[in-house]
Amino acid sequence: RIVYLNGAFLPENEAHISIFDRGFLFGDGIYEVTAVLDGKLVDSDLHMARLERSVREIGGRLPVSTDAIVAIEKRLIAENALTEGVVYLQYTRGAEDRDFLYSEDLPPTLLLFTQQKTIEHAASAEKGIRVKTVPDQRWARRDIKSICLLPQVIAKRAAKDEGCGEAWMLDGDYVTEGASSTAYLITRDGKIITRANSEVTLPGCTRLAVLALAQEAELTIEERPFTLAEAMDAEEICLTSASNFIAPIVAIDGKAIGAGTPGPIYRRLRALYIEHARKTAI
Ligand code: PLP
Repeated sequence: RIVYLNGAFLPENEAHISIFDRGFLFGDGIYEVTAVLDGKLVDSDLHMARLERSVREIGGRLPVSTDAIVAIEKRLIAENALTEGVVYLQYTRGAEDRDFLYSEDLPPTLLLFTQQKTIEHAASAEKGIRVKTVPDQRWARRDIKSICLLPQVIAKRAAKDEGCGEAWMLDGDYVTEGASSTAYLITRDGKIITRANSEVTLPGCTRLAVLALAQEAELTIEERPFTLAEAMDAEEICLTSASNFIAPIVAIDGKAIGAGTPGPIYRRLRALYIEHARKTAI
């Protein structure tokens, strides 16, 4: 695979980062994951806007413009002949002797690579995903897409140990979001419920696109927190993320949801999203 590191396109085994990189020593960095469908970037503008915001929120500065980043992503897709999968981007504050404080003129580290993944015809889109709940043990600024992902690593491992594909994180009785996805429930009368964006969750790019499509389709959306009990009793539940688009959740903590199979509103939203992705990918 060809990867991008600090201005150079290199074979992956020739790309090296300093042991003093602040991403490595402090988790001092930001990441983004953009889906690739038919060799094109999906919702690229939304991901670039979120990247700029995350970097700004930690007082960082991107070394190149987002237009240049998109060009890098397109070149990686072409060089690696990627038709479906993701482009991963990581920005860190750079490398220097270990100190919490950083030099203002430190050149940042910018790394991008591609990963092949089946998204459109993923087995989970038909079979559904089982979810395990865990306490949300993350920091208070979850709106920043920080590379500090230890709570999610632990949550996903606990979920896998119980045969689940995703963890839902709980703040008391309330669901915040998935370990790497936005959480939704659909009520018996067809309302889509998901949290409003705030510092409590990551503002999902797929969420933004799916809610816009739902609105166009005249579905009712209610942006508010929901409890685990409400989700357990929902007609359908689902998740969105760049690397899954929208996927159905069929069980929480071993209890089947609704009919225990992917529901009609999920199916409609997935079809709308794939159509949107094809139409707008760059
Ligand atoms: N919430 C969290 C905690 C995530 O890590 C992610 C994606 O990785 C999402 C939500 C979904 O965001 P997006 O749709 O932009 O991939």
